[in-house]
Amino acid sequence: MGMDVLKKTVDESIRMGVSHYDFFVTIGDPLLDPLLLERARYVRSFAQIRDMGFSSTLQWLHLFDMDQFFACGFTWVHVSTTLSGPETYHEFFGVDKYDLMLNNLLALLRENNLRGKPMVIEIGIKPTPEPRRQIIDHPDFRLVQSLTDQDLAAMVMREDFFVCDWGGAVKLPEYLRPLPLWPREHRPCYRLFEGVQIFSNGKVGACACRDFEASSELILGSVQENTLTEMWNGEELARIRSNWQTGRRVPEICSNCRSYDPRVHPASKTK
Ligand code: SF4
Repeated sequence: MGMDVLKKTVDESIRMGVSHYDFFVTIGDPLLDPLLLERARYVRSFAQIRDMGFSSTLQWLHLFDMDQFFACGFTWVHVSTTLSGPETYHEFFGVDKYDLMLNNLLALLRENNLRGKPMVIEIGIKPTPEPRRQIIDHPDFRLVQSLTDQDLAAMVMREDFFVCDWGGAVKLPEYLRPLPLWPREHRPCYRLFEGVQIFSNGKVGACACRDFEASSELILGSVQENTLTEMWNGEELARIRSNWQTGRRVPEICSNCRSYDPRVHPASKTK
């Protein structure tokens, strides 16, 4: 997405009252975007923005200068990782980037601590096929634990082996199981009521979770041709929701999505 499109989109969302910004990438990592810091600075130039962040594996954080990174004003980063050595990391993520990730994670935690913790760094430990005690006793795990208040051991102890397979796009290792496909005909997914997502080509979707090509029936228009207000309050989104809620017609992309969120949004309650 060019900066001009980003600025137009942010300006519009600011007028709509948006105060949270997530640099979410559908199967990808925001740290691979060379304009990430420039974009972040623009978003944070509006006082109304209360939080801004992204999810990452941190495999590419070393590409950024730490002072510049912190100066952007990110308020949170979610890190997906394992902390019990390169082999189990490779088993889960399929790449040999454990050492890079670990150095980046340690640097991020140390820099954040030195600066008085301006950023919430949430570490998500992914399941690995080894005894839990072995994970918790690994020296890398202990080192990371010493730098964060998060109870990582508790996370490992309650972990299961169910993960999202991104609609089958990610081949899971033998020891993992895809999340169940919960029944959904009677309740629209909560995410259809949370907000819209803007893709890098300017298309706008009611949910970007599984729409890798921005081509599903959840696409509402594009920022080049429509305003965000038109799309958020428009007929297309209303039709998608009511078709599901009252007509039991689940969009195809949602029918096999393992991230379906069954919570009832206040706006979805039957009148
Ligand atoms: S079911 Fe999946 S793709 Fe559909 S709205 Fe929910 S999270 Fe998005």
